Order: sequence, then C-alpha cells, then structure tokens
Amino acid sequence: MKHKVTFIPGDGIGPEVASAAKACIEATGVDIEWEEVICGEAALKDFSTPLPEEALNSIRKNKVAIKGPITTPVGSGFRSVNVGIRQALDLYACLRPAKYYEGVQSRYKDIDLVVVRENTEDLYAGIEFEEGKDQTLGLIEEINKMSTRKIKKDSGVSIKPISRSASEKIVRFAFEYALKNNRRKVTCVHKANIMKFSDGLFLSCARSVAKEYEGKIEFNDTIVDNLSMQLVKVPHNFDVLVLPNLYGDIISDLCAGLVGGLGMAPGANIGDGIAVFEPVHGSAPKYKGKNKVNPTATILSGVLMLKYLKEIDAAERLRMAVAEVIKEGISVTYDFKEDRDDPSAVGTREMCEAIIKKME
Ligand code: NAD
Repeated sequence: MKHKVTFIPGDGIGPEVASAAKACIEATGVDIEWEEVICGEAALKDFSTPLPEEALNSIRKNKVAIKGPITTPVGSGFRSVNVGIRQALDLYACLRPAKYYEGVQSRYKDIDLVVVRENTEDLYAGIEFEEGKDQTLGLIEEINKMSTRKIKKDSGVSIKPISRSASEKIVRFAFEYALKNNRRKVTCVHKANIMKFSDGLFLSCARSVAKEYEGKIEFNDTIVDNLSMQLVKVPHNFDVLVLPNLYGDIISDLCAGLVGGLGMAPGANIGDGIAVFEPVHGSAPKYKGKNKVNPTATILSGVLMLKYLKEIDAAERLRMAVAEVIKEGISVTYDFKEDRDDPSAVGTREMCEAIIKKME
C-alpha cells in the first residue's frame, strides 16, 4: 500500500538527519510519496511565519509526518514551532523510547525505558504574561486579591494548566501502550507534594485510570526529583514513565543520556489518527552543515513511523540494520567513539549509507 507522508527538513542539523532518515526509510522498499513542506527559519522568509498553515494542512491531510528539529529563539522571538505543531494538531501524546544498543558509549547496558509525555498543556501551554505590561500588572492585581500568597509586581508570569481530561487521556495512552507492548509497569511522575492542584490532579487521574488496569499492569508513582536520582542510580527499576509536559521534556533528555546521548533518542507525537515523528534532540546549530552528527535518533523515529504505518517487517529490518552498524562500530559518528576526536568516526551521510547497505 502506498503511503503519503509530510516531510519537514527543519533547521540546523535538521535537513541532514531528516534526509538520512528519509533515505533509510526509502531503502526499506516501502512505497511512500513524500510531500515536503518548510517550517522554521526557512519559512519566515517566504511565509512571514515559522509555522505556515500550508505545513499544518499537509500534515492534517496526510495524517503522518516526519520532521527534523526546528530552532526556537531563546527568551524572545517566535514561539516554538515544535510545540506549535503539537498543539495545533492536538498531538497529545509524546512517546520517547530510550533503548540501549550494543556498541554505544553508555554507563549502562540493557536499558529499555519508555517516556510518555503529555504534549499539549502544563507550562508549555504558552500562556505567558510579560513583566511590566499592563495586562500582566492587572493579572497580578487580580491574583493578589484572591490569594494569601502575593506575586511581586515586577514578575513575569507563566501559567501551568493541567486538566483532568488531558491527564486521564495521557495516562490511559501509557497503560494501553504498556499492554500492547508487553510492558510490566507504569510509573506516574509528578511534584504533587508542592503543586497540589495541578500535579496533584495529574496524580489522582493516574491513580484512578490505573485501577482499570489492575492485575494487568503494575502501577506506582514518584516525585520527579527522586525519579531523577533513581534513574541515574537504578534505571532498571523503571519501565514506562508517564509525565506532565515539562518533566517529560527534561526526563526524556536524561533517559537519552542513559542510552548513549541525544543521538540515540527517537520520538513520536501522537494524536487521534495523526502522528508526527521526530528525534528528541534539537537543531544543534553549531554542527549545521558539518556532516558530523548522529542520524540514529531520526532514523529510529522513522522506524516508529513505519510501525505506525503498519509496515512492521520494514520497521524491523531498518531497526536491525541500525543495530548492526552500531554494534560493528566502524561506520559510526563521533559520539559512538570513546574519544570524541577519534579520526576514524564517519559523518552523518556515511553512517546512513552503511545502514542502507545492511538492508541490501
Ligand atoms: P540540541 O539537542 O540541539 O543539542 C545539544 C547538544 O547535544 C549538541 O550540541 C550536541 O552536542 C548534542 N546532539 C544533539 N543532537 C545530536 C546528534 N544527532 N548527534 C550527536 N550529538 C547530538 O539542544 P540545544 O542546543 O539546547 O537546542 C538547539 C535548538 O534546538 C534550540 O533552538 C532548541 O529550542 C531547539 N530544539 C528543538 C527541538 C525540536 O525540534 N523538537 C527539540 C529540542 C530543542
């Protein structure tokens, strides 16, 4: 069956890793018609917005997309295009497997964790009020009337909404994922001791959804700071983690670090009947155009995409080809080497070619 997939190259190292993934997916022989659209810095010139409606419409129409990372200016400038895509298309679940592959430079072996991050609300909702603006001063005044705790007038304010509906949906997603993928345990991660009405709600939703899976999937919960320590000390104690948006973002990078770094961490943003696949890492601008970085995270995002398209055989062939190349340790990028300046490291393109060769 022919699939139509939206392809977004992205910024920085995005075009290099995204085209490597595209080439590897094509080499599986699965019939895909690609529709390329631009977002990010490149789109600003042509469309005066980093997130053109044309790009969103292409994903809405094709229902599946794969994208390279997109740069977000820090502190000011346009809002994150990545967050914008997730919110515009209601891609409420962010699935980020962190799996150990033999041959990577890592402190641990046999790690096989899955991060399930709520993707639409929390401090990422984008509801922010700038310090000193009339609207902000008005908001602070209103809140100060209602609350015994006072906000200083010279504050910027970011709102952290956590809803019952989104929390139940993401926890159910995590349990369903666990059931379908033979996982044993779901851990809810929160800071409900401090944020009783936002994280507290997330935890109480998790506890009530967990009851539906009693006897099938184990459930427990942990505070995010404690989890961070335990992940570093005893990562094998965990299986599927379900978290609100911000903790999910941070813990995803921690988990990537457990399996060799950001070059090894794929991801999927999933909604109802629609999905966008992308690596956990960002656009690493300092490596732009250098043919240097590890394409594995984006190629493994392609494996997740092939599975989503029900191309299971192709997905497994591609995953095995990646695993073999990493295990051999010959045609691999600098981050697989003990010494990062090891001259035997190859570039993004060469690693991609070696993976394709394994499938021939
Ligand atoms: P980053 O993930 O881009 O890079 C941090 C460091 O991780 C890099 O300097 C590099 O050493 C390493 N790294 C990242 N990808 C790698 C790869 N494929 N192979 C080997 N090493 C790799 O994080 P950052 O520097 O904080 O962010 C850069 C930009 O990316 C920012 O504008 C940020 O907002 C954006 N970003 C985008 C996404 C996304 O598109 N979904 C995600 C995260 C960050």
